[in-house]
Parts: sequence; C-alpha cells; structure tokens
Amino acid sequence: MRTSILAYLRCPACASSTLTVSASAEDALEITEGTVRCEDCGHVIEVAKGVLDAKHPRAAEIALREADGNARFIEATSSEYLHDDDWLLRLPYSLYHVPPQKGGDMVANFDSLVRELGWGPGSRVVELGAGNCWCAWRIAAAGAEMVATDISRVKYHGLESGRTMIEGHGPYFERVVSEMERLPFADQSFDGLLIYAALHHSNDMPATLREAHRVLRPGGAALVIHEGVSGILRNNRFIGLRSVHEIDWQQFNWNEQTFWLHQYAGSARRAGLRTQLLIAPFIENRLERGDFGGLLFGRIGRLAARLWRLPGGHRLLRSQASIWAASYLVGMPLTAIFRRPR
Ligand SMILES: [Zn+2]
Repeated sequence: MRTSILAYLRCPACASSTLTVSASAEDALEITEGTVRCEDCGHVIEVAKGVLDAKHPRAAEIALREADGNARFIEATSSEYLHDDDWLLRLPYSLYHVPPQKGGDMVANFDSLVRELGWGPGSRVVELGAGNCWCAWRIAAAGAEMVATDISRVKYHGLESGRTMIEGHGPYFERVVSEMERLPFADQSFDGLLIYAALHHSNDMPATLREAHRVLRPGGAALVIHEGVSGILRNNRFIGLRSVHEIDWQQFNWNEQTFWLHQYAGSARRAGLRTQLLIAPFIENRLERGDFGGLLFGRIGRLAARLWRLPGGHRLLRSQASIWAASYLVGMPLTAIFRRPR
C-alpha cells in the first residue's frame, strides 16, 4: 500500500476516514508490512505483503469460505497445473479451463471496453473480485489510478498476485481485501468500477450494485463483463449443454450462480444505476466472422451472423430489445455499463 490510498480508504468497521498508518517494513514500491488504525473505533487494518486486509470484521461466512476454497484449489491442483510468476505475467493467455483462442478474445474484448469508457490518466478505478489482477494491471497500464479488491489473497488466485504484476509489467496499483458487498471506500471515490466475471459470485448481488452506486461519482460508470446469465436453452440439461466449468467448483466453495437478465437489470435500477446492455466485442467479432462452435448455438449464431451482415444489422442486433432476447434465449453472458446519473 501507499499512503495516497488514505484519500479514499475508510474504516471497514465504522466507516470513519480518520486513519493512521504505521509501517513496519517498506521498500522502493510501497509499504509492505504494517497497520492502518481507525482513530474512531480502534479497528486495525493489517498490511501484509503490500496487501491491505480491509474486509469487514464480521465478513460473511460464504465469502470467507470461498477465499478458503481458492487457497485449497491452488494447493490441490499444484501438481496438475503449473502456477509461477511467468504464468501470472502471461495471463489471460495462460488461463487453464478455457479454450486456447479465448485469451485473445478476452483481451480484445476488455481493452475495447476500457477504451470506450476512457479509463486512463486522471481517472480512479476500482475492481471488485479482481482475483489474480490481470485486468487491474491492464487498467493501471492505461494510466488510471487503480485499486484491485477481492476476498481472496492467495497468490495465483487472489491479490498477492498483484505484486508480481506490478514488478513484471509496470504501473503500481493498490490491492485491498474486501467483500464486494461492503467496500471500505468513501462515497463517490471512483470514476469507474469494474466487475469481470465476479458479480455472479456475490452472496448479495443487489447489495454489490448498491455499493457500486455509492462509491461511484455522479456520471461514473460500472463496467460489468462476462457474468453468467440464465437462458431458456442454456439451462436445459436435456439438450446436453453443460456448465462452462470443467472443474468441480463445489468442492472449492465457489459461489457459482447465474441470474436472469431482469435480476441484474432490476437490481441495477433499484440501486439508482442506468443500464446500457452491450454485445461483448468478442461476440461481435464472431458475428463478423460467422464463427460459432457447438451444434445448437452454432445454428442460432450463424443465423444471427446473417442478420448482422444485412444493412442495419449492427443496429438491429445491438438494440436493447435484441440483447434482451439473446439473453433469455441462449443466456448470452452479460456485458453492461451501469452508470450513476449525474
Ligand atoms: Zn473504525
């Protein structure tokens, strides 16, 4: 951590901003060991390996179990999957459990959305569920002041990966252990907020969106990418569609859920956020190429690709109505901008 975080950090226990840092070890990059003490209630935020532990003193059991499961996952799979610093620095291209071409899709998708929101020099962005921080460092590299949060700190899965990203790739960013439903930051602290494939892990999705609204400045935007959406066809086990996860996630307490689109959009609206649904840029690339694998989705995808190429096709498929239809039908993953009105 750096002391500049005190401009917007608040006590997770009592929400006070009167905090005092005492460092017991620091290096050229940051304070690596120490404490941040709340002068109002006495709560102590520990700093270890540069990561602040600012989760609520009574964090939800389900979140703590997920963090514990992540640590066990890294331990249990260490012989099967190589995890080292080189692996971290090559993310997301080095991800296991996703097809090899997917890494390029993910990067193209991500970079184009971040550019669209203009996150760069002069903006401050927080990521919820940042995990091993590959998105956080990319936003830091775009020039934004960046804070990665997650409930999990274990290296290779959680926030302790961040230091490797900073040393290997460049710009500094903060790493803060926190529940996504209760953020240790002052109101209106951020221009942007990112949730990448993590909102569907929340144990209280509406509360997470209320927190997003609270910490965003008016006009600020939450970018939500690749969240599980329930679709009439996707959820039908009788036609042989399976979970995207090959691994037994229950064993590791991963809180995997899907929601219907109206649950995401309704929660955002009740939180005071305005929803703009998008087709993920990587899906648009596929529409462009007419490239869809799988039997059932392949047929629907090729039909959509034909519409895409018709005059006015882009506008038609990008309309909110088409995205609602694609979500309900095939469970197209959620890509959305939730904006806090000015
Ligand atoms: Zn306090």
